[in-house]
Amino acid sequence: PSPGRRYALRVTERTLVLVKPDGVERKLVGEVISRIERKGLDIVAMDLRTVERDLAAQHYAEHDGKPFFSSLLEFITSGPVLAAVVEGPRAIAAWRQVAGGTDPVEKATPGSIRGDLALETGSNLVHGSDSPESADREIKLWFPSL
Ligand code: UDP
Repeated sequence: PSPGRRYALRVTERTLVLVKPDGVERKLVGEVISRIERKGLDIVAMDLRTVERDLAAQHYAEHDGKPFFSSLLEFITSGPVLAAVVEGPRAIAAWRQVAGGTDPVEKATPGSIRGDLALETGSNLVHGSDSPESADREIKLWFPSL
C-alpha cells in the first residue's frame, strides 16, 4: 500500500444466532430478523426447530454444573427456537452488540434487543456465539451441513 493510504482489513465472520423459545412465543422473530438486517449482517442459514435435550446440553456445555444449568436446558427445550447463521465483518461482536448484555436490566443497554425487550436473565430472548471458537463449534452443532 502507498504511504498514508489505509486499507481496512475486513474479516468476514460467522456467528450462531438463536431466538430462544420466549422470543418465538412473544412473536419477536420478525423484530430480531429486522434488527439483523438493519445492522447490515447477512443471514446465510435459518431454521425453526424444537431442540432435543442432547443438543441443548452440548450447546450449553460450558455451563454444565452451574446452578442455572438445568433450568437453562428446560427453558431452551420448552418450545421452538429460530436458529440462524449470520455473517458479516466482525459479525460475532456486532451481533452481541445488537443483542445486548446477558442481564437485560443490569448489562443490556437501551437500543439492544435485550435492553429494549427483555426483563430477566433466564428469558433474555436471543443467543449469540461469544468467540470465533464458540461460533465454529456452535455452527457445526446446529448446521452440520454448512
Ligand atoms: N443464564 C441464566 N442465569 C445466569 C447466567 C446465564 O439463566 O445467571 C442463562 C441466560 O439465558 C444466558 C445463558 O444462560 O443467555 C448463557 O449464559 P452466557 O453467560 O453464555 O450468556 P450469553 O452469552 O447468552 O449472553
